[in-house]
Amino acid sequence: MAKEYDVVILGGGTGGYVAAIRASQLGLKTAVVEKGKLGGTCLHAGCIPSKALLRSAEVYAQTKNGEAFGVIADGVRLDFAKVQARKAAIVEQLHKGVQHLMKKGKIDVYAGTGRLLGPSIFSPLPGTVSVEMNDGSENEMLVPKFVVIATGSRPRTLPGLEPDGEFVMTSDEALQMETLPSSILIVGGGVIGMEWASMLNDFGVDVTVLEYADRILPTEDEDVSKEMEKLLRRRGVNIVAGAKVLPETLEKGNGVTIQAEHQGERKTFTADKMLVSVGRQANIEGIGLENTEIVVEKGYIQTNEFGQTKESHIYAIGDVIGGLQLAHVAAHEGIVAIEHLAGHNPAPIDYTMVPRCIYTRPEAAAVGLTEQEAKAKGYDVKVGKFPFKAIGKALVFGEAEGFVKLIADRNTDDLLGVHMVGPHVTDLISEAGLARVLDAAPWEVAHAIHPHPTLSEAMAEAALAVDGKAIHF
Ligand code: FAD
Repeated sequence: MAKEYDVVILGGGTGGYVAAIRASQLGLKTAVVEKGKLGGTCLHAGCIPSKALLRSAEVYAQTKNGEAFGVIADGVRLDFAKVQARKAAIVEQLHKGVQHLMKKGKIDVYAGTGRLLGPSIFSPLPGTVSVEMNDGSENEMLVPKFVVIATGSRPRTLPGLEPDGEFVMTSDEALQMETLPSSILIVGGGVIGMEWASMLNDFGVDVTVLEYADRILPTEDEDVSKEMEKLLRRRGVNIVAGAKVLPETLEKGNGVTIQAEHQGERKTFTADKMLVSVGRQANIEGIGLENTEIVVEKGYIQTNEFGQTKESHIYAIGDVIGGLQLAHVAAHEGIVAIEHLAGHNPAPIDYTMVPRCIYTRPEAAAVGLTEQEAKAKGYDVKVGKFPFKAIGKALVFGEAEGFVKLIADRNTDDLLGVHMVGPHVTDLISEAGLARVLDAAPWEVAHAIHPHPTLSEAMAEAALAVDGKAIHF
């Protein structure tokens, strides 16, 4: 029997479940269809498990290197099974939390694979959702007024470098490793690749990163790439930028061997395992898009600024629409889409206000334009940069590497971008995000009194440095 809803959400990842909660808050009768686990990639194969492993790696590295703090720990060992168990426990706790939120919001959750049907006896519009239930029970037929597609993404692979269950992995398989390799080749020096490089290096794995672009983290400010490369190299990570990996040369057996073109030469790289981190691909297959007028371009569903597709009653949010593939973006897109379909006239997302975080050691974070982008857009920029080595709290932490860099428009004093490398900068970046949302000028950021001793003083000092007025450097 068909069941009627105001909104049916296809996919219960960060975008989907947040959209469902907002819909329920607005009094809409809501269902989520999820074929895997509520929480999606972020909770089960992304943000949370990777950060749990990163934290264990940091604790391990710091304990081993405690002498500088006067802490001598002999015989420090790694119990990787416990590391994985801790990760799993955190994920499960949060998974239960999301399940509870669905119950609290009286949101119906269908455990199965959803697919959009065309116009049918149930509705003259495409968008009836047929659900093939995971438990093999009869298909459910959901007839919504609105649909939100939030089916997310999966790791992209390179032809010839597909995961094989033994030597070649994507982040999905790497998160499930039961033992650590002694060495690894990471193909791709973007955010995910560099987080794995930092983590595995801290776990004591011999890491080589092969990046096609001429620098790691190629979409970030050049100073961020340079600093990160310098600091990770210092820790022993082998970074080879400008390397074109040749998948046809892959040999497996006793580990992996592959060739790459680098600086006009063919070079050979060998390791126990390979991690391929070359981006993500939208889950657009098998969801019935062919039964709709929805437009797909370059593999991503096309929407307007409220998430509305060519079918005005069908929205799409999160990784499946491309752009910044981040959990907080998916969640915000979900809220905007629901408020829009409910007639609440939400403000569309300004993507230049979205913080981007990289959870390496040290961390990196940014919001707004890079210096290169600002110049390319024709801004006459002024830059304030302040190093963490002049911040007392960073020295106390024993993590005094990196900087905060502010980029402002010389003519208007607008804050165009903020870039950080250093301790806890993924938390510090929120202040920069707020400053941009409130349209604060650098002097206003500095005018807000920052407590001493804190890492946040680097933000105030960098804001002063924009006009040559930094106090401590
Ligand atoms: P997803 O989370 O992918 O959820 C989609 C859901 O839809 C899945 O649960 C899937 O099972 C379900 N689904 C798909 N098709 C169907 C169907 N036909 N029927 C029913 N259900 C279906 N982002 C950050 O912001 N911070 C981070 O630190 C971070 N770290 C990451 C680390 C890694 C290793 C990876 C891989 C990603 C990371 N991300 C991070 C990105 C983040 O995970 C994604 O941006 C986010 O999960 C996108 O949310 P989503 O709702 O669009 O899709």
